[in-house]
Amino acid sequence: MGKRDYYDILGVPKSATTDELKKAYRKLAIKYHPDKNPDNKEAEDKFKEAAEAYDVLSTPDKKSRYDQFGHSGMSGSAGFGGGGGGFSMDDIFSQFGDVFGDDSVFGSFFGGGGGGRGRGNRRTVGSNIRIKLKLSLADMRNGVEKKVKYRRMVAAQDVKFGSCRHCGGSGAIKQVTNTFLGQMATQSACPVCQGLGQVIESKPKEANEQGLIAQEFETSIKIPGGVAEGMQLSVQGKGNEGPAGGASGDLIVLIEEVPHEELKRDNNNVLYNLWLSFPEAAMGASIEVPTLDGKAKIKVDSGTQAGKVLRLKGKGFPDLNGYGTGDQLVVINVYVPQKISAEEKELLLKLQESKNFKPDEDNKSFFDRMKDFF
Ligand SMILES: [Zn+2]
Repeated sequence: MGKRDYYDILGVPKSATTDELKKAYRKLAIKYHPDKNPDNKEAEDKFKEAAEAYDVLSTPDKKSRYDQFGHSGMSGSAGFGGGGGGFSMDDIFSQFGDVFGDDSVFGSFFGGGGGGRGRGNRRTVGSNIRIKLKLSLADMRNGVEKKVKYRRMVAAQDVKFGSCRHCGGSGAIKQVTNTFLGQMATQSACPVCQGLGQVIESKPKEANEQGLIAQEFETSIKIPGGVAEGMQLSVQGKGNEGPAGGASGDLIVLIEEVPHEELKRDNNNVLYNLWLSFPEAAMGASIEVPTLDGKAKIKVDSGTQAGKVLRLKGKGFPDLNGYGTGDQLVVINVYVPQKISAEEKELLLKLQESKNFKPDEDNKSFFDRMKDFF
């Protein structure tokens, strides 16, 4: 049996855009959809044929092979055997379900599972849960595993579902309208079961209308090093469970920063203000400073000016995308005494006379450095 040309199957020219291909496929998929053509082998074959044509023509390398060699170019590596043994129905639903994704009218066609007619076609995904998580700067830098507790909707015990009689369990209401172009079939989600295909026949009274019940839940979340205030991590499947066995939504974790007493974050760097006494700045000193990694000793050279910045390499935050690690910047300040005794004043008066204590021409470079810093 010869295979039909893929362009003929979809009824599009070779120059068709992705959008046109999608539209053409969508039309055929609706027309030959098994829900509308129960026990119709010919419709099923056409449905599969359209999916195969769409798969090839919407995949650039398959398309170019097909354009060059025709069907003979597609055997073997293309994933389609020569004998038309293309997709199974399940493949088609799982791969091309998104063709209808932006259209709620037809969305229920491809609810997942696809072929599960008679038991309710649509699985509704549970809603997401959002929680806040406070983290110290050290945890944000080094990464951490945190236990979180929250309330989550889960399927209650002893809930009995039965097929929705309003829609016959399909979850969709079909309507055929006569237009001058011919009969047009449209579908909408069943208002009784909200597209689920099933309704609750009995449930414990604590359960809500969807058969769900709130439950305390605890899970542990791995936080990678490098996260920042305001970021959201999403943990798949840890949100509310879906009704009638639907998949769970996600847990969305909003990161909040607990301020550090001495250190500040500046993108991936850490800022620390170091106050030196005047003698320390003049004579040099070895000083312990806090970092997110514990204490670190730094050496301050003699004659260090206020405004100088010392860099502790790699003591900042790792970049989340792997582009290196920030530093800790130690900004030097020199403390000027607020009050002095009579003796100290005497000593200072002596020092004031010394040429070394005057900010003269020699020190011009200091102001240039200040300018650079700001
Ligand atoms: Zn219904």
